[in-house]
Order: sequence, then C-alpha cells, then structure tokens
Amino acid sequence: MGVDNIADGTDVFVDGAAGTIALDPGAEEEAAAEAYKAAAAALTVFDGTGVTADGHEVPLLANVGGAKDAVKAAEAKAQGVGLLRTEFCFLERDTEPTAEEQIEAYKGVFDAFPGKKVVVRTLDAGADKPLPFLTDASEPNPALGVRGYRTDLTSPGVLERQLQAVADAASQASADVWVMAPMISTAEEAADFAKLCSNAGLQTPGVMVEVPSAALMAEAILGEVAFASLGTNDLTQYTMAADRQLGSLAALNNSWQPAVLRMVQLTVQGSAAEGHAKPVGVCGEAAADPALAVVLVGLGVSTLSMTPRALAGVGAVLNSVTLAEAQRIAGIAVAAPTAAEARARARAELPVLESLGL
Ligand code: PEP
Ligand code: MG
Repeated sequence: MGVDNIADGTDVFVDGAAGTIALDPGAEEEAAAEAYKAAAAALTVFDGTGVTADGHEVPLLANVGGAKDAVKAAEAKAQGVGLLRTEFCFLERDTEPTAEEQIEAYKGVFDAFPGKKVVVRTLDAGADKPLPFLTDASEPNPALGVRGYRTDLTSPGVLERQLQAVADAASQASADVWVMAPMISTAEEAADFAKLCSNAGLQTPGVMVEVPSAALMAEAILGEVAFASLGTNDLTQYTMAADRQLGSLAALNNSWQPAVLRMVQLTVQGSAAEGHAKPVGVCGEAAADPALAVVLVGLGVSTLSMTPRALAGVGAVLNSVTLAEAQRIAGIAVAAPTAAEARARARAELPVLESLGL
C-alpha cells in the first residue's frame, strides 16, 4: 500500500529490521515495540573495538556525509571512516565546488579522526544522487548511465581537481587518508584511477565493488589498486537488476539474496590471489545488519562501515562468535536457496540476536 493512502492520525507500527509496516498496531505489536525500545536503550554503547569472541579484529567504521556526521561518528567511537560520501558535501550545487570549499569540507572530516583511517569516496554523481554540474538528467537509464567514476568521461578535470583537494586537505591533517572510486567496472578503470591518485600524491587508491563485473574481475582489478570496498546497496541493485529506489522491488533488493552473498565471496576470493592479498571491506547498508555483518566477516571481509547508530549492535553480535563460527554461518547463508532462507538460517545460529532485541 502507498503511504499516501494512510489516513492522517492512523497509528503505524514500523519494524525497520524486518522491513514491514502494520496499521493500527494491537497489543502484540505494542509489546514488541516496548521490548525493542528497552533492548535498544541497553545497547547504545560501542566500546570502540570490533572483534570476534576469539580476538579476530574487524574494525567497525562509519559512513558519513560531512564534518558534522564525522564528529558524531567519533563520539559513537567509530574506529575511522569507511565511507565519506563527498557528493553529500555538495548536493544541490549547480557548479563545481572550488578547491578551498573542498579542502574545508574534507579537512573537517579528517580532523574528527586524527591518526585514524578515513576512506574518501570521490564524487558519486548520478541516478539516486544527481549533481547538476556532473550529470545529465535526460539520460534514459540513469542507473546504467554516466554516473560515479564514469563522469570522468564527460566532465574531465573534475576528478583530478577533487583528488588534489583531498591530497591538500590530507596534508593539513593527521588522518590516514585512503581514496576510492565508485562504480568501477573494469581493471582499466581501476588502473586509470590509481594513476590519477598517484599524480595527486595520494598513496592508497581503491575501488568500490558495486557492479557485478567488478566482483567477477576482482583479481585483475585488485592487481591495480590497494583495496576494495563492497558497496552492497548498488551491488544488490545491479546483481538483482532491481532499482534500489523502488519500494515495490524491496524483496529483490535485499542483500541477503544468495546471489549477492556469492558476489561478496567472489570478490574476497579475487582479493586473496597469490602475490597480492588486498583488504576488502563493506560499506553498504548490509554491514549495519548484525546477522549479515557476521556472514560478511565469515566470507572474509576485513572491515565493516555503517551508520554510527548500528555500531553497538554489530559490535555486540560480532563479539559473540568466533571467526570459525562466522565462517560456518556464512557457509550456511551462501548455500541457502533464497534470501528469506539465508536470513532465517543465519539468524537461527545467532541466539544472541533475540536476547539483544535485534
Ligand atoms: C553502496 O552502493 O552500497 C554504497 C555504499 O554507496 P551509495 O549507497 O552511496 O551508492
Ligand atoms: Mg553506491
């Protein structure tokens, strides 16, 4: 049902974890909401170290859109920033931001994490994030169009200037600055991006794995760059061919889909190729689902980046399993025939979820 059809004043029960809503909640839903509130209140604190029960460290990082978010993320004890969505600093702009504006925006984030890792994602314009100075609103299929790294084809120079601004901001701060390009599809693109980073004096170039071709070609792509970060929001949209903005396709657009888990698995396998073991993190919403986070760690990802409010829950559940248990649970999820089964079977192995109200 469309939200527009709900009468004003109607009580609505929203279960964000299950992705369901119910109108006029009864006693059962109200009790569930109260239990959730109590559990959530008890689970607000992350102690600042992501680690499994047997001591395998998985740094838990934050997704941020600018300096204000970064300050809040640091207060929530995020271990760094795994995704700075730089386009969020400049939404609604119809001209390219100046070098000074960019340096100020990036430095504000770096200063919130002195000495810590901050992964800057270069401008990801297009489709769900239009930036008028980079994207063409009249494209017939914006999600398959000139977006993300591809805008370098149509607006050459913007990316070079952004990388220089990132390097200049990094030189004025102590954060360990990594940079990554969104929507990389081929090893040539990865190599070209690494060259641009090196020209700007940036030492740690990486790519986002958001397109199935990048997962399939992870070994060659990671031969060109220092790391990869799985953008599971787009990777799910493109693996399932289901627009992430369409609520009617939410069941397909679900990172528990075993096809998506297999894409993650392929990427990690490619990253471990002989001669160049490279870290692979996750910065899509999947990392914020505590049960799915365990599966991702079991599949071999080395960091998880999420909205700061998810840190405490993910940290607690991760801390309840050993790495071998996470690997076993990942195997169960990957082998499931459907997303619903993958989720249910993984959750059945994690009784801690219920006691934490997650
Ligand atoms: C993703 O696609 O998973 C991602 C992290 O990037 P965004 O949501 O900004 O497209
Ligand atoms: Mg994306």
